[in-house]
Amino acid sequence: MNQWEFMDKEYIWHPFTQMKGWNENKQLVIDHGEGVKLYDVEGNAYYDGISSLWVNIHGHRRREIDEAVKKQLDKIAHTTLLGLINKPSAELAKKLVEVTPKGLNKVFYSDDGSTAVEAAVKIAFQYWQHKGLPEKQQFINLGDSYHGDTVGAVSVGNIDVFHKVYKPLLFNTKKMTCPSFYHSSIEGINSEIEFRDFLLQELEDYLKENSDKVAAMIIEPLVQAAAGMLMQPKGYIKGVRELTEKYNVLLIIDEVATGFGRTGKLFACENEGICPDMMCLSKGITAGYMALGATMVTDEIYNTFLGEAAEYKTFYHGHSYTGNPLACAAGVAGLELFEKDDVIENLPPKMAVIAEHIQKMNTMKYVGNARQCGMLAGIELMHDKNLKIPFDSTLLMAGGICQTARKYGLIVRNIGDVIIFMPPLVSTVQQIEEMLSILEQAMQEVFEKVDLHSNIKFSDPCAF
Ligand SMILES: *Cc1c(COP(=O)(O)O)cnc(C)c1O
Repeated sequence: MNQWEFMDKEYIWHPFTQMKGWNENKQLVIDHGEGVKLYDVEGNAYYDGISSLWVNIHGHRRREIDEAVKKQLDKIAHTTLLGLINKPSAELAKKLVEVTPKGLNKVFYSDDGSTAVEAAVKIAFQYWQHKGLPEKQQFINLGDSYHGDTVGAVSVGNIDVFHKVYKPLLFNTKKMTCPSFYHSSIEGINSEIEFRDFLLQELEDYLKENSDKVAAMIIEPLVQAAAGMLMQPKGYIKGVRELTEKYNVLLIIDEVATGFGRTGKLFACENEGICPDMMCLSKGITAGYMALGATMVTDEIYNTFLGEAAEYKTFYHGHSYTGNPLACAAGVAGLELFEKDDVIENLPPKMAVIAEHIQKMNTMKYVGNARQCGMLAGIELMHDKNLKIPFDSTLLMAGGICQTARKYGLIVRNIGDVIIFMPPLVSTVQQIEEMLSILEQAMQEVFEKVDLHSNIKFSDPCAF
């Protein structure tokens, strides 16, 4: 064990990690990165197949972003947005307003995705007080939604394994059916279109009776990533936008995972031509360089908070590092690269390679459903794909595949029995091809072991 692994195991509590298993197994220590690859301290190279947990866009150590951050560092690393302006945060805000759907004209900065959601929830709540409709307090969310890990964000989240234990701490929400057709089992509904109509009807039925007490609906658009890349029917978010507008309910769109090109457009909303009342951004906002969150709002919302000091309409909310200049400088450089490199225009052939592999994976014996939206993919394993019977979860099947893939130079991560694939947008067609070939090899290898020894425990990477 090298000294960093020793110190890590001695002193660090890792996120979303069972530390017992962590401490018992050998772990990778990353030394540096270059482009779409990560290098460990022993000099081994790995493709970054999950964009360093969904944040990296233009690759690691991108000269333009490195230089922008260094240039800002030579001026000042941090100064507060409470009472002062800094140049990068002003520049980034202007750019964000330009690139997001028309109508989102103001930027409220925070530190990450969870805080971007917290701000949105509080803004929605306060908005209705300013509007003279204080009884509009409820939030509508989706089954299996994920909006971050702070308590407000967990309240509007809905993933049992992550959230159940905190139930007594959370405020109540109205939960709508999870809009994933593959995971649905509603009698009499046999097509994705029927399913979409069912979902929208369910929402309308609720709003018709209850919209006077609903503040906002919050959704992840097109893809519910943290639930395991669950995909929504075409036309769903457009329908949700129409209904929330019709029934005077704010729509908060959480683009923390889907934003900045992941779905093939700069923002997922653009796929259905909608504009929400609020949009939450983080992850790709600094191209994966630094922590930063933003809550974008319409003028209508912003204006209701204006008033004399004595009216107490101020949004009393903010963080120490709000609008951090280094993070915002990285954000500006990242957005400039979208233009300079024609990042969005160059995605279709990359998405096509992913589609080919997804199709192939769907023919594999233990793949229940491999699915893709743009540059996002999830491969869900099933012990019996026809009857949709999952593997015993203690086998940690998908986790075993991810561990195996490391042997061949690919870092990917699973969520339950779904393998997540989310390469940096800068990855070339050839690199994506190689990443997915490695993944298929790892899947094949583990599937063969399943056929050979039905009792194997995959939690221990040394088992293979
Ligand atoms: C990751 C994520 C969050 C939380 O962001 P953090 O930066 O991890 O706090 C919120 N919403 C969605 C959709 C996410 O994928």
